[in-house]
Amino acid sequence: MKAAYWHGHKDIRIREVPEPETTPGTVKIRVAWAGICGTDRHEYTGPNFIPTTKPHRLTGRTAPLVMGHEYTGEVVEAAPDVRGWEPGTRVTASGTLCCRECPACVGKKRPNVCEKLGFTGVSTDGAFADYVVVPAYQLYEVPEGLDLRTTVLAEPLACGQHAVNLLGGVAGERVLINGSGIIGLSAFLACRVGGARDVTVAGWGAEKRSYVERQGGRYIDVSTDEGAKRLAGQRADVAFECVGLEGTLRSAIDALVPTGKLMVMGVFAQEPHFPMNFFQEGERTLYTSQAYNEEIGEVLSQMAEGRYADLESLITAEIGLDDLVGKGFEELERNAAKHAKVIIRLSGKR
Ligand SMILES: [Zn+2]
Ligand SMILES: [Zn+2]
Repeated sequence: MKAAYWHGHKDIRIREVPEPETTPGTVKIRVAWAGICGTDRHEYTGPNFIPTTKPHRLTGRTAPLVMGHEYTGEVVEAAPDVRGWEPGTRVTASGTLCCRECPACVGKKRPNVCEKLGFTGVSTDGAFADYVVVPAYQLYEVPEGLDLRTTVLAEPLACGQHAVNLLGGVAGERVLINGSGIIGLSAFLACRVGGARDVTVAGWGAEKRSYVERQGGRYIDVSTDEGAKRLAGQRADVAFECVGLEGTLRSAIDALVPTGKLMVMGVFAQEPHFPMNFFQEGERTLYTSQAYNEEIGEVLSQMAEGRYADLESLITAEIGLDDLVGKGFEELERNAAKHAKVIIRLSGKR
């Protein structure tokens, strides 16, 4: 089969390799579609989390390894000790690899913050390949009526849903979202589905404006002077930071009314300054969100109920595996603002 291996900084090699085999507790999936995530982009220009010298604490793996954790496909075969995943079942999956022993995994039922947390395509072989073998506990059946192409968005959308769940819901709230990449848009959609009163997305460039407005949100292009001024005048009960820069953190914080909630989803390359007194004096609260737990299932049900309109618009490019570097990663480096989700066609059919 064909697979895209991460070897090092900007060194992705598409190779012909034997198909992976199941081990106890795992299921083999024929990949239909896969999505390129911000995480993958950070590894492309990284390494960021991919272990290069010290083996991963849970999987024992080091690079090279197959990238990719956002995918849909069909079950080919389950290990003999796995029940309930018949060949042909249409699935998508969580990327979380967890120890199932630590307090986060067992007591708190929050494996997304497992002490030995790993991730498919980052800590072990992933889904930028014709086949992938993953633990059965990661799998979700795709409801009838949903196609495998748009369902590849369930995993990234689960990130926004998880953040909204951690906030205890956003019904009736005024929300500001800093960032119009897929994580910002996942937060936006989760807030819309969750009944927020008023949602404003602040993003760089005008590309996402029409999508956000069609979905009932407001959009601010912060690359313009007028947009920057509008952002500075925002007031919000809940503000999301979905970029990972000090400036976007600061403008999200500045918008918060007393008792307001800040939700940080961005990953910071540089440690930001944090205005602690502003939080203390207004009883504002800091929340953080990391991936998701059972929210993929929640999003799949919402999709099946038709609660997300026009998901197709979030797919901004479709490429083949051979084009992963040129039309995938390099294109995203050049034109990040243009894209929401770039998807890779494996065995998928339109
Ligand atoms: Zn992802
Ligand atoms: Zn654990």
